[in-house]
Amino acid sequence: MARFFVEMNLAVGETYDLPADVVRHINVLRLRVSDEIKLFNGDGHDYVAKFVLLEKRQIQVIICSALPVVNESPLRIHLLVALIANDKFDWVLQKAVELGVSQITPIYSQNTQRFKGERLESRLLHWQKIIIAASEQSGRATLVELQPPQELVAVTKSTISSTQKYILSPHHSGEFATIDKSLESVALLIGPEGGFTELEVELANKAGFQSVMLGKRILRAETAALAGICVLQSRFGDFVG
Ligand code: SAM
Repeated sequence: MARFFVEMNLAVGETYDLPADVVRHINVLRLRVSDEIKLFNGDGHDYVAKFVLLEKRQIQVIICSALPVVNESPLRIHLLVALIANDKFDWVLQKAVELGVSQITPIYSQNTQRFKGERLESRLLHWQKIIIAASEQSGRATLVELQPPQELVAVTKSTISSTQKYILSPHHSGEFATIDKSLESVALLIGPEGGFTELEVELANKAGFQSVMLGKRILRAETAALAGICVLQSRFGDFVG
């Protein structure tokens, strides 16, 4: 059943006009009036809906039922990923949503690009769209929380609420903690193409981010991000088997 994100409160028995972007998407999919769709708004439910009106420019639906969606990982992963090249960053966002990350903060560091003003606004909108599309596809009914980019230095001075914090580094040996299934939240920091500077790693270490090396090979930042998430989900999250 096709599934769409809508930014509106939904209730069973109520009728809604769908927003223009969802109308366009439904037109592209050539859905018929007899089809049912699922809507979600990030509140943890899927809402099964039937068409009341299906026209090219206007679509109205009635909500038939609300189903709780139980597919969030028991481990809350906060991904802090340096702003790598745009296409690579987009890819990391998409995959991080699929892999069950719950919070993402883009990081500015010495070796990253920076966005300001309108460019930043349009990037944030673009990233939010990627998160929504990946949530639609992967069946998540809770949206990943996207924060505006932060300077690494600011992150090391702020309080990150995660129980454990790690910085991935190809030059500083260290491992994730041994298995502790009760671990509820973890922060994972990944550097840019040019890496973090020695000083940045030091700052992060002082702020409680323990260095972790994933093998002895240098991984691309996007590979390191995904590998790190997979190890965490497998040790403490919902990758079972
Ligand atoms: N020339 C850079 C350097 O030497 O640091 C390479 C940076 S690497 C392409 C980008 C990021 O991926 C790193 O900052 C680190 O966070 C992560 N990374 C890459 N390989 C890694 C490894 N083997 N173990 C842990 N993290 C790694």
